[in-house]
This record gives sequence, C-alpha cells and structure tokens, in this order.
Amino acid sequence: MSLRWALLGASTIARQRMVSAIRAVGGTIVAVQSGDLDRASAFAADFALPLAVTDIRHALSGADAVYISSTNDRHCTQALTALAAGCHVLCEKPVATSIEDARAMVAAAETARRVLAVNHHLRHNGVNRAIREQMRAGAVGQVRAIIVSNGGWLPEELRRWRLSGEGSGIALDKTVHDVDLLRFLLGTEPIAVNASTSGPPDQPAQAIMGVLEFDGGVLAQFYDDFNAPHGQTRIEVIGDRGRLIAEDCLSGRPAGTLGISDANGTRPLPVDHENPYAEVIRDLHRAIAAGTPPAASGRDGAIALSAALSAIRSARTSGRLAIESIA
Ligand code: NDP
Repeated sequence: MSLRWALLGASTIARQRMVSAIRAVGGTIVAVQSGDLDRASAFAADFALPLAVTDIRHALSGADAVYISSTNDRHCTQALTALAAGCHVLCEKPVATSIEDARAMVAAAETARRVLAVNHHLRHNGVNRAIREQMRAGAVGQVRAIIVSNGGWLPEELRRWRLSGEGSGIALDKTVHDVDLLRFLLGTEPIAVNASTSGPPDQPAQAIMGVLEFDGGVLAQFYDDFNAPHGQTRIEVIGDRGRLIAEDCLSGRPAGTLGISDANGTRPLPVDHENPYAEVIRDLHRAIAAGTPPAASGRDGAIALSAALSAIRSARTSGRLAIESIA
C-alpha cells in the first residue's frame, strides 16, 4: 500500500521521526500545513515537499491520510476536518485535550469509515513487545505490580506550549504514553488512580507520580517528569515467580535492554529492535487494508487521555479517583 500523506503540523516530531518513517514504508508526502506559512515553507524545502500551506483543506486535497502533530489543543479540530474530507488519520498523543473531544473524534471516524490511529509508538518498541511476550508466556508468574519510570529532560527548544496553556503539562505529554503501554502489557483496563504532582504554582504540573489500579488487581506506579536530566526510562514487572527489568525502553529510538531475575538468577533476554514509528505506519496500512482497528485506535487514545485527566484531578483533590470509562 502506498498512501499520499498531508502533514498537519510543521513540528519537531514530524521533522525528526515521522517524515522518514512515512517514507520508509513507501508513503508519499504531498503537503505540509502550518499556522505559519514561513515555517511550512521551510519545512517543505527541507524535505522536498511539493506543497506548503496554512489552509488545512488545501493540504487535504490529494491526500489519503494525514499525520497530525500540531500542538495538542489543535488535534481534535484538525482530525474532524480530515475525517470529514475522507482521510485516514494518524494523530499524535494525547488524542485530544478533553474526553468529549476524543469521543467526537472516535464517532467521526466511525461515521466516515476511516481509520483513526494514535501515535502511541511505545507499543512498537521491541523491548516493550518482548516484555509483553514474556508476561504472556508466564515468565514471571502472576503479575503483581508494574513500575514505569519515565522522567527525563524536556529540551529547551520544546519548552513552549508544553509548559502552559490548553493541552500542556506532563500528564498529557507522558502519562498518556504510560497508560497506553500498561494497557498494552496487561491487556486489562485502568479503573482508578491516585497521583501527586509538582511544578511551578498556577501552571500545569511538570512532574507527576501516581498509582493506577488495573482491573484484575495489578497495581502500576508511574513517574513522569520534564526536569530530570539524569532520568533513565525503565519498566519493572514484578510477578510472584520473577521480575522483568527493562531499561531505556520509553524513547522514540529503537533501543533498550531487557533482563529477567528469578530463581535461576539474573540474565539478559533477546530483543528485536525495530523503528517504532515505521511500525506505527505499517500497522496503519494493515488496519486500512483489513478494516480492523490499528494497534492504538482513537478509543485507545481516549482511554489513555481519560486516565491522565483523572490523574491530574486526583492530584488536585488529594485522593483516589475512579477513571471515567470510554464506551
Ligand atoms: P513542536 O513544538 O515541535 O511542534 C508543535 C507545533 O508547534 C507545530 O505544529 C508548530 O505549529 C509549532 N512550532 C513548531 N516549531 C515552532 C517554533 N520554533 N516556534 C513556535 N512554534 C513552533 O512539538 P513536538 O513535535 O514536540 O510535538 C508535536 C506533537 O507530537 C504533540 O502533540 C506531542 O504530544 C506529540 N509528540 C509525540 C511523540 C511520540 O513519540 N508519539 C514525541 C514527541 C511529540 P504549526 O504547525 O502551526 O507551524
């Protein structure tokens, strides 16, 4: 399958990861749209794209699919416009900034009979896939808890809209990834959350730590931070017969290691590394061709968003909160 793509957003992630991922899987990028024509034109020149525009509808003419990587507050409107124009949509996380918007996007995709996928690329990281296989094979027995450490340093050039305004803050940036990955690993749903946050007063939190309760009783601790320059991403899966330890597995790079510790000692486990973003595009192709949901659908994005929003509310109200379910 070869799709013609329009990029909605002249963003860093499009520049650093997604243009090459789309092209690696045989896609053609026919347009880039930005709120700023100079930025769109510079982007188009850098990647030899034929069209740079500010008008979304202009970008959509001649496209089969869009990749939305604008600021979070624009995801919903852009997705609704693209779906109404008959395009498949790969939307960045968070899928939207409110559950109502996320639901509207899911409904619009159903009405338009188009695929709405969310770029929860961590499902395609080789280490995370290997963790899931080990869990499913019973390598650590009955899973009791998972600890996700996702703190790092937000580069200076990205310290703009992520720090204040609609759709900003660490929970919409990182916690949504944690929740989606935990759902992918466990195959069950988060039902409640209890979190604490830190950051400058009167701004969305820049660090968050909390506990998610999953259906079936597994507890998951998560830690996300914009200001941890020595943060090393890490996942620990604790079962009643052993423990899986993954390091450096929450970035966009095809990187990371996995080991197991059990009654036979501690040893490394094999991992097949793939470019997770290219895998997201391949998966979208599969979903379009087969008429089946993508690995991370709009509904998956909505569930991750719901849990992240509940985590923020729980930090404000200092207590455990049930997570609003997505039908
Ligand atoms: P950027 O800040 O680079 O881009 C977001 C938007 O900001 C762009 O679409 C652009 O708007 C505007 N912008 C870009 N550069 C500048 C600039 N120099 N000055 C002012 N405005 C600028 O964000 P990211 O690429 O980091 O993130 C974009 C989206 O992708 C977000 O939704 C984020 O959550 C998601 N993301 C996902 C990742 C993943 O692995 N799945 C990783 C990183 C980000 P315009 O288009 O109007 O020009």
